[in-house]
Amino acid sequence: MTRVLYPGSFDPVHNGHLEIIETAAKLFDEVVVATMVNTTKDGVFDLNDREAMLREATEHLPNVTVRMFAGLVVDLASEMEADFILKGLRAVSDFENELQMAQMNNAASGIHTLFIPSASSSSFLASKFIRDFTRFGGDISKMVPESVARRLRERYV
Ligand code: ADP
Repeated sequence: MTRVLYPGSFDPVHNGHLEIIETAAKLFDEVVVATMVNTTKDGVFDLNDREAMLREATEHLPNVTVRMFAGLVVDLASEMEADFILKGLRAVSDFENELQMAQMNNAASGIHTLFIPSASSSSFLASKFIRDFTRFGGDISKMVPESVARRLRERYV
C-alpha cells in the first residue's frame, strides 16, 4: 500500500490543486492532503477554514484524507509513515524551488518527493492571484470549487 503526503498552504484550495489531488488519488492507495502553516505567505483563511474547504472539495474521493499541520513537512511525513511527498508543478519556475526543497527534505529524512505536472488549463492558477482577484471583485467561479467561491465572496464583502 502506498501512502503519499501532499502538503501546501491551500489558502484557499483551487482547481489546480484539485487536479493534482484527483490524479494522485488514481495513482496511489492513500493520499493525505495537509494544509500547513507557511510563515512566508500572507494568507486569508485560518487552518480550520482551509481544512474545511479541502474536505468539502475532496469528499468525492474515498482514498483522500485531509488534515492540518503546524511544523515541518518531513516530521508530518514520518509521523504518518508516508512513502512519498507529492508536489504539483505549474511551471519550470516552480521546479527550481521545489527541487531544492525536495533535496533538503531528502537529506533531512531520506524521503523522496514526487512531482505531478499540472495540465495547461490549470497551470496559471495560484491561491494568491485568486485572493487578489476576489478582493477587487473579479469572477473566480471557474477557478475554485463552489464552496470556496462562496467563502471567498463572504470574506471580501
Ligand atoms: P499556491 O501557490 O496556489 O498558494 P500552495 O502553496 O498551496 O499553492 O501549493 C501546494 C502545492 O500545489 C505545491 O506543490 C504547488 O506547487 C502546487 N500547486 C499550486 N498551484 C498549482 C497548479 N495550478 N497546478 C499544479 N500544482 C499547483
